[in-house]
Amino acid sequence: MGKTSKDKRDVYYRLAKEEGWRARSAFKLLQIDDEFHIFEGVKNAVDLCAAPGSWSQVLTRKLRNKDDDSPTAKIVAVDLQAMAPLPGVIQIQGDITQLSTAEKIIQHFEGEKADLVVCDGAPDVTGLHDIDEYVQAQLLLAALNITTHVLKEGGVFVAKIFRGRDITLLYSQLRIFFPKVTVAKPTSSRNSSIVLLFAEAFVVCQNYAPPSGYIPNMSNPLLDHQYCDWNEWEGPNRVIVPFLACGDLSAYDSDMSYPLDTEYKFRPPTQMPINPPYHEAVCIKKQDQLAKPAVDQLTKFESLELKE
Ligand code: SAM
Repeated sequence: MGKTSKDKRDVYYRLAKEEGWRARSAFKLLQIDDEFHIFEGVKNAVDLCAAPGSWSQVLTRKLRNKDDDSPTAKIVAVDLQAMAPLPGVIQIQGDITQLSTAEKIIQHFEGEKADLVVCDGAPDVTGLHDIDEYVQAQLLLAALNITTHVLKEGGVFVAKIFRGRDITLLYSQLRIFFPKVTVAKPTSSRNSSIVLLFAEAFVVCQNYAPPSGYIPNMSNPLLDHQYCDWNEWEGPNRVIVPFLACGDLSAYDSDMSYPLDTEYKFRPPTQMPINPPYHEAVCIKKQDQLAKPAVDQLTKFESLELKE
């Protein structure tokens, strides 16, 4: 691709360079703000998955008073990749699915809370759509987990999503914490992508209101690889589902072994498998054509080499 072809094709790409944004994504956040006024009254903000930094640029331009250089707003930006410094932005290089990164973000707030958390995270795509959709959803859940630690009640969470098949599950998870969840599609956000089957959009989650008694925790297994005792949870953090034993409780226990009443007599299975996967292997074995262990193959090649 020539140096100018992307400029010619993509108006937002061109505009971003003209206006000094590090990426065209800046327009997505600006357009979300046009509709939802997400920066109103915001002092502290977190930018998750921030590199190369155009959303952090938007945050600094919107939240820091240009006439007054005193850093009133606290902006914490996180990404796996290194990001060129931006005045007034605290940077953390780390993985948002890791507990240690989440802890670093929380530390920077020193008990204070953020009014806004944004996440434009996108994992490296594999091209396997189910996996890509799953990883994107997990990234969003990791962002939500961090958000439950740092966001003020009433605060706003904006995050990128891909509207795949299981998106309603994600909406339900978000609705547990936010009474108002809207899907926003900025005009600068493209509908198609060569690699992703699903259309990009953004969830705008307003009025953060965790369930009463909810204690933020890093319970997402992706965040806490050491998790073990889920039973320690209490209150709304603990989910209890009904457990029902079925059948005659005085019947045989499948974990016990019982002596035979009469002499053992073999009976064939009621229905043999009609096309078992091992059938082909048995036929190949009968013809002595099963692959030999790697060691034998190696010896064969070595001896061939010696002969030559
Ligand atoms: N909002 C950014 C901007 O305006 O410049 C663009 C973000 S870019 C589309 C997606 C970013 O997500 C990448 O920089 C990538 O490194 C980051 N990312 C993906 N997975 C991540 C993870 N697990 N933890 C932190 N960052 C991650």
